[in-house]
Amino acid sequence: MQDKIIICKDCGEEFVFSVSEQEFYAQKGLEHDPVRCKECRNAKKARNNSRKF
Ligand SMILES: [Zn+2]
Repeated sequence: MQDKIIICKDCGEEFVFSVSEQEFYAQKGLEHDPVRCKECRNAKKARNNSRKF
């Protein structure tokens, strides 16, 4: 395995899908690579969370 460079679907920036993250995904049984960078994932999470309040 090696680090992958992925283009974020939301902001268009390149981000690294690291080997440790790939292993984490594999452990979770996720077959698909992430489509968003960490910031966009966090931003999305924050938006979802704020909806609850
Ligand atoms: Zn992004």
